[in-house]
Parts: sequence; structure tokens; C-alpha cells
Amino acid sequence: MTEALYRDDSYLKSCTTRVTSITDTGIETEASVFYPHGGGQLGDTGELVTPSGDILQVTNTVKVSDGASQSHQVASSAGVNVGDEVQLTIDWERRYRLMRFHSALHLLCAAVNAPVNGGSIQVERARLDFNLPDGLDKAQVQSTLEGFIQQDVPVSTRWITNEELAAQPELVRTMAVKPPTNATGTIRLVEFKGIDLQACGGTHVASSAEIGAIRVSKVENKGKQNRRVTVVFDDDV
Ligand SMILES: [Zn+2]
Repeated sequence: MTEALYRDDSYLKSCTTRVTSITDTGIETEASVFYPHGGGQLGDTGELVTPSGDILQVTNTVKVSDGASQSHQVASSAGVNVGDEVQLTIDWERRYRLMRFHSALHLLCAAVNAPVNGGSIQVERARLDFNLPDGLDKAQVQSTLEGFIQQDVPVSTRWITNEELAAQPELVRTMAVKPPTNATGTIRLVEFKGIDLQACGGTHVASSAEIGAIRVSKVENKGKQNRRVTVVFDDDV
């Protein structure tokens, strides 16, 4: 089992931990600051430093053992042994973009206020597919989103039981994704104060203003009940 350090502090960039398992595809550790691919958000990349000081490039992070552990994918694990103390450091610039985009999608959820069919958070752009029969007004979505970002509301997390979640089904916004649970079976809620509250296992910024300037780049019809909204960073355009 891997202790998911990024869940309690998404700003952690590095940790020292021990190798618990080595497979053809990657290295598993006791704890990790690397976010594993899931919930639409890409897995982290970065470096793993071995006891002898060799630096291995981690090209992706994925969940294994039904999500209980995570594997850091490397081209070769030569020189690494189970029990070794290693240092893990994420590519922070890349992760911070993913955190800002991920957080922006929470606000987009609130701006559109419709069930979500699916979504994707990439380094260059992020998108959500909404279950909506009618079109969306791009300019209106943009201005609502901007307003939420400028409100600079704090972002917090807490855990609830399955029973509490069952009593509030509206907390599960993405119909295709199972809500994230921890070892004790509780579910993580993420709140953008006064704007959005939903079950989510991803990494977020500490306040909405930290997302920065976001532009709604596209609103597309992707099928009868599917309206796709794509956002980019204004700085990139
Ligand atoms: Zn989230």
C-alpha cells in the first residue's frame, strides 16, 4: 500500500520513502508525492533518486493493486532494490498546471451546473463534457468562471462516510467516475467555499485566485446530450 501524501498536501514536491515492490513497469513505494493517473487527471512525472545517487526519470504514475498502491514508471529499475530508501521529486511546474486546471474544472462544474459525462486534465488544456440537451453560451460561462476565480475563495477537503454520501447523491458530479475512498472506506470531499462541493480525489490549489486567468477556448456539441467545454490558460494563448 502506498501512503498518498499528495492527498493531505498537494503542494509537497518531494519525499523520502522506501521501495516496497519492483515490477517490469515500475517501482512501488511506501509513500509518494506523485499523483497517479485517475479521475481525468494525468499521472505525475519527475525523478527518483537511488541510494547511490542515480537519477531515474519517472515518466508516469499509475494506480496498481486496485488503487491501494501506485507504481512510478521508469525505463529501467536497474540498481534499485526492495527496501532501498529513495527520494521522489515531482516535476512541479507540470503538476502545478494540472492542479490549476483541475481546480478550474470544479468552478466550471458550478458555472454550468449540469451532470458531468466525463473530463480530461492535460498539461495544455482541460475539458468537461456536460450532460445537456441545449447549447451553452460561451461568453456567459467565461464570465461566471472569471467571477468565481476573482472571488478568491479557499479550497478545503474533508472525509465523509458512504452513508453520508448516499444521503447526498448530488456530491457525485461525474457520473462515470467512482468517488475516491480511503483505506477506512470514507470518501473525500473537496469544497470551493460557497461555490462547489463534490467528491474528488485529485490535487487542487489552495484558493480559487491561484488558478489564474482562464479562457474558455471552445464549446462544442459532441452528441445529443453532450456539450464539451475546453479551457486554456490565458498566458498560453
Ligand atoms: Zn477535484
